[in-house]
Formats: sequence, C-alpha cells, structure tokens
Amino acid sequence: MSISEGEDLDQQLERLRAWPVLKIKVGGTEDARRILKIRQRSQQRIWVDANESWTDYQQARQTLFTLADAGVEWVEQPVPAAAVELQHKLHRVSPIPLMADESCHTLEDLPGICRHFSAINMKLMKAGSMTEGLKIIRAAHQLGLKSMVGCMIESSLGITAAGLIAQEADMADLDGHLWLQDDPWEGLQFAEEGIWILPDEAGLGVKPRAATDEGAK
Ligand SMILES: [Mg+2]
Repeated sequence: MSISEGEDLDQQLERLRAWPVLKIKVGGTEDARRILKIRQRSQQRIWVDANESWTDYQQARQTLFTLADAGVEWVEQPVPAAAVELQHKLHRVSPIPLMADESCHTLEDLPGICRHFSAINMKLMKAGSMTEGLKIIRAAHQLGLKSMVGCMIESSLGITAAGLIAQEADMADLDGHLWLQDDPWEGLQFAEEGIWILPDEAGLGVKPRAATDEGAK
C-alpha cells in the first residue's frame, strides 16, 4: 500500500499497519531521512519508488546504501528514463535491486532493461492489452528479470484484469481502485490487507457496482 507526502505520516502508518508491504513514493533531497523516519516507526517491508527523481550519481548512490541499511527491498525507477548511462552506473553498484517503471513500456524495451535493471513494473495501461502484458512478463522472466504488475489510478475493471495477469508475476502492487471515491465496478477484492480474492465468474469476473441507497436517491 502506498504512502504519500500529503497526509500526516503517523496517521498514515497507523491506517496501513496491517499491510505487509509499504510502497513509499519519494522524490527529493530528503528521501533517505524520510525513509529512516518510517523505518523507525514500522517494521513492515518497504519498497521505494523514486519516480525518476534522482539525477546526481553520488547522491543517488549514497541514498541507495542508506536505504539498504534500512532494509528497503526494492527501489523503483531511481533516475529519469532517458538517463540510461546514469541508470547503468547505479545498477552496477546498487546494494538494492532496481526496478524499471517509466523505462519499461513495451516488449522492445526489455533487451535494454535487462542490462540496467533487475526487474520491471508492468502496467496494463502502459502495455496496452492483457496479451501484451503477459508477453512482457514472460519475456522479462526469460531474460532473468523479476516482474511486478503495477497500476495507475484505475477502476476495478483495470485492477481486476491486472490481478488476473499478476498470477504470472513475482509481485503485485494493485491498489489504484482504492483511491477512487466512486469505483463504478466490482471485481478483485481484498480478503484482508495484502491478500486478494480474484473473481471466479466468466470473463474478467467484473460487474457494475450496485447503486448504494445514497446513489439511488
Ligand atoms: Mg512507479
């Protein structure tokens, strides 16, 4: 489950206490300090998404070593997708495996990615279709990459399709529908924090969400 910068940190951690993994989005000069603050307050597993925000090699390298000491398991997209040389240098020294998000859109990206990253974050909204998404995951595995199925802010229609594909992947980060106030669809459900139930009905198993009393008025 993702932690954002907007809400009070202690309140967020309390609300997310039962989730097995915290995915923390960073993007500034205080990133290492922020993660250490979270580590002091939580023993949950931590993944970090830098969203292309690190552009200085020495600072990025130092941050990666600090995060490794804090037990961070993955760092997603540390540098801008266009900064291929910088990414390559970091990949060679990083004590934490690095995952491609903005650097990975299509099947054609994979041969380059396997030289600079350890994993990919495949999103259906980037891949364009379930078939293409499956191809990307299978090709990534053949190249020795780990795979995660991620998402954008999406309704349960997209999240459930991604959940079905994620059965082929090593990891999943599928909480985009939980950020919607009015998700028009019902599909993938959480049995408890971090444990999904995929629908077993025909097709995607997604159906229109029943109108609430409030909505029916
Ligand atoms: Mg990302």
